Amino acid sequence: MLALTQFTVSWAQAPSSVLPPTATTQLPTLGSGGEMNSNAERRLGERIAREIYRDPDYIDDPVLVDYVQGIWQPLLVAARARGDLSEELDQRFAWEVMLGRDRSINAFALPGGYLGLHLGLVGVVSSRDELASVLAHELSHVTQRHISRIMTKQSQQAPWLLGAMILGALAASKSPDAANAVLVGSQAVAAQTQLNFSRDMEREADRVGYGILMQAGFAPQAFATMFDKLGQSSRLNDSGAFPYLRSHPLTTERLADMQSRQPPGVRAPDVAAQSPSHAMLSARARVLSNSSVDALRAWLGQAPKSVGDPSPVTAQAAALYGAALAASKLRDPASAASHVRQLGSLPITEPVAARLVKLLQAELALAQGDAAAAVALLTSIGPIKAEVSAPWKTDRPWVMLSAQAWIAAGQPALATERLQQWVRTYPRDAQAWSLLSSAYGAQGKALRSVRASAEARVAELDYEAAMDRFNAAQALVRESAVRASDADHIEASIVDMRRREVQSLLKEQALER
Ligand SMILES: [Zn+2]
Repeated sequence: MLALTQFTVSWAQAPSSVLPPTATTQLPTLGSGGEMNSNAERRLGERIAREIYRDPDYIDDPVLVDYVQGIWQPLLVAARARGDLSEELDQRFAWEVMLGRDRSINAFALPGGYLGLHLGLVGVVSSRDELASVLAHELSHVTQRHISRIMTKQSQQAPWLLGAMILGALAASKSPDAANAVLVGSQAVAAQTQLNFSRDMEREADRVGYGILMQAGFAPQAFATMFDKLGQSSRLNDSGAFPYLRSHPLTTERLADMQSRQPPGVRAPDVAAQSPSHAMLSARARVLSNSSVDALRAWLGQAPKSVGDPSPVTAQAAALYGAALAASKLRDPASAASHVRQLGSLPITEPVAARLVKLLQAELALAQGDAAAAVALLTSIGPIKAEVSAPWKTDRPWVMLSAQAWIAAGQPALATERLQQWVRTYPRDAQAWSLLSSAYGAQGKALRSVRASAEARVAELDYEAAMDRFNAAQALVRESAVRASDADHIEASIVDMRRREVQSLLKEQALER
């Protein structure tokens, strides 16, 4: 979905960078055919993504991001193989899933290949396959150029206004209790209607998404179970907390269509029998999406009390994982330690799940200030080996957590070594650059620290903040010119070069307005 039933944000609350500029506003980048070209769409997407990165609800939790990537990347591979994803779009668009802390059940496609996914949705799906079915549907809205067609209809609007409309719709899509905004009325409702997908587009996204899901090897039945689940949710709770549904109306026709797609004779998977890893990650999503004291305490109340609890291992694993994380957020280290110990003693045989338990143990040790214990735990499990057939299976959760643990344990050189390698492969990883900045700082390497912090801002498309830091880095070079080492001379020339590059990006941005 792109947008929701009502705007609840006034224009005055739109982020300052999307407010009207003084110059006249005409979209100069439309192709002659009147269709928004992929470059213009990508730039519009970046404009929106930049604001989402700054939103306090945006969350880069390496464990959950890794989980989502493990679903998203195979879908992209499948879309390429089927020819749904053209080479041009593949290269030009971001193909990035951004996680939001919000607990509403929502996923949405944005211009330029950016997708938004609320933790509320991650917390309610009962399998990877169900999450895959939602992402495949959203992916198809992009590959079928539905977004581009909607944007084309809006082509008389300036990019800043389109960006503001979409951001306003996103703000309105959050949990009602999180919205502190003003209802703007008919004008907003009209704008909303313009942003919605047509029923034909929905049907096409279902059809293409289903094909992608099958090709990627996910259980195709998940499409129907997911629809069923969303249907039940809407019956249980019609308070407006399910914007995904409101923009994706579940007509009986659509539901019957999905069920008829299921190949005959294929046994429906028992989605109730979740894998322990999925159950734990779903618990993590629910804890991170609702960190009110009451919600966190509820996890402690629901945890199995002792070893030998009769409930299934998967259910126990999820409850204990959630309780340990919740106790840590409540700053109750004794309770966190006892729950994570109980979790560790469960007979979990799934390797991915066993690794998640170790990562949680290390995360909690670090949160309690026992960095040495965290380093020891992380060293004992080691990073994941890269697989040629699945290059998206990285060891990012391990690398990010290890870097934090090394810095906290007074071993920042280990962190810089690992992170330097990492950003060479993933130069757009803002969290890695931020950690690298801290690690350099801990080693007294001020220039490198400031440069890494500038790169973190570039990675989140905030070129103005990046320029501030590049300028600060140049000032540092001038001040310390006399005692600068050779290494710093090289770093200084990198700063000059990167500053020029970012300056030209800023100029391009200014022209677009
Ligand atoms: Zn849709």
